[in-house]
Amino acid sequence: MTLKFKNRIAFFNTVAAATSTLLVFVALYLVVYLTAYKHLDDDIRKEKADVFKSMNLEGDSISMRHSPELDEKEHKQVEVNPTFLQVTDATGKLVFQSANMKEDRLKFDQSLTRVAFFDHEFNNERIRLGQFPILNRSGKVIGHLSVGVSQVESALVLKNLRLTLLIAFPLLTLIFYWASSFAAARGIAPIHQLIRTATQIDDRSIGTRLPLPPHRDEIYKLAATINDLLHRVETSMEREKQITEDISHELRTPLAGIRGTLEVLLRKQREPEQYEQKIEQVLLETDRMNRMLEQLLQLSRLESGRVLPNKEPVALQRFFMAFLEKWQPLLTEKQVAVDLNISPETVVTADAGLLELIAGNLLSNALKYGSTGGKVNLSWNAATQTLALADDGPGIAAAHLPYLFDRFYRTDTSRNAKIPGTGLGLSIAKKLADVQGIGLRVESETGKGTRFLMDFGEEA
Ligand code: ATP
Ligand code: MG
Repeated sequence: MTLKFKNRIAFFNTVAAATSTLLVFVALYLVVYLTAYKHLDDDIRKEKADVFKSMNLEGDSISMRHSPELDEKEHKQVEVNPTFLQVTDATGKLVFQSANMKEDRLKFDQSLTRVAFFDHEFNNERIRLGQFPILNRSGKVIGHLSVGVSQVESALVLKNLRLTLLIAFPLLTLIFYWASSFAAARGIAPIHQLIRTATQIDDRSIGTRLPLPPHRDEIYKLAATINDLLHRVETSMEREKQITEDISHELRTPLAGIRGTLEVLLRKQREPEQYEQKIEQVLLETDRMNRMLEQLLQLSRLESGRVLPNKEPVALQRFFMAFLEKWQPLLTEKQVAVDLNISPETVVTADAGLLELIAGNLLSNALKYGSTGGKVNLSWNAATQTLALADDGPGIAAAHLPYLFDRFYRTDTSRNAKIPGTGLGLSIAKKLADVQGIGLRVESETGKGTRFLMDFGEEA
């Protein structure tokens, strides 16, 4: 059986409260019990002192003097709270007994040499019994005085107390449970409100936020955390939507181009060369689409966390020398010279394969957007642990810089100049850097070239 949260809290509270109440009740009962007994024992001692005053001791024999106190005592004690007195000698023979005892005898232990108190049943009544040894001058026990007082009154007080506590305990426990579950229900009412609102949120109402409770407590934090989560889900849903829209938009242009070219071809008979030329155009467009789809796949792999970098020490100078060798044909074609300002001992921790893809993206941009005969500079700043790839190309206007790493983002200049590209290269490079914990940023100004900077110091 699972208890409701509210009842669980109430249950634990009640168990704790009931245990403490029980302890307090037991302690209270014990104190009253002990006090009652002490009171009885004090009474017995007082009686004993009075009786001893009326006692004559001669040698080993004991006799009682009839004093007015003793007579009066006996008279009083017959009625209300009887006190029973009994004096015996060394042989256990009765020397004196109070009138209220009639033929009965108080139980006593002949062998006892010290004061002792017992509980005793006498005439169907519980009594408290004190036994005192009677000593002669030389300290020898020559008899015993037994004083018994009724326990009826104390027993009644204790019985009433027991009854009160026994009734109060379950009653208090019930009240605790009720109050506790009431308080718990009030306490978790805001959670029910949150649940109600949260269950109503679906894809279409993902913009809804949970109401924040007035007090900044745990429930407030819970609501705020769920709201944060909703915000992230909403952003990611919007991004997905945006991506789908971007992709459809980007694919529509080449598809329309292909369709247009094919329609023109169909309209009338053409020369074989014209067919060849148009078909080549179509092939170029499909290549472009193919490349875009490949880049999108690469991006999605990077975003899904399926690309795990294999980081190892990379000697940058050796790495770039090998890299530039592969790019040599394109560099020669564009007549671009690359300056490699990296010392042989420069070593970074990175995934060499992923690093090559980043550098490839950056260099391809420098070649695409820079002018023929331009210069590219590769340098390492040991103090900041930064690798820079700078070109002397046209540069990028400040307005574009914040969006440069967004997917499909291209500046109008590159679109208008009909430089081929999908606008995905830099977003891929950024993700490739992210998965390795490398920072990638850009510094540029129109007419002053562009510098891409990779910060290796960012990794933990
Ligand atoms: P892709 O790389 O996917 O073929 P792309 O080169 O257009 O296409 P990115 O590499 O992401 O896309 O670059 C985005 C835009 O940034 C480019 O279209 C260009 O406008 C600008 N850009 C990037 N690098 C440079 C550069 N070195 N000099 C001038 N502009 C640049
Ligand atoms: Mg590019």
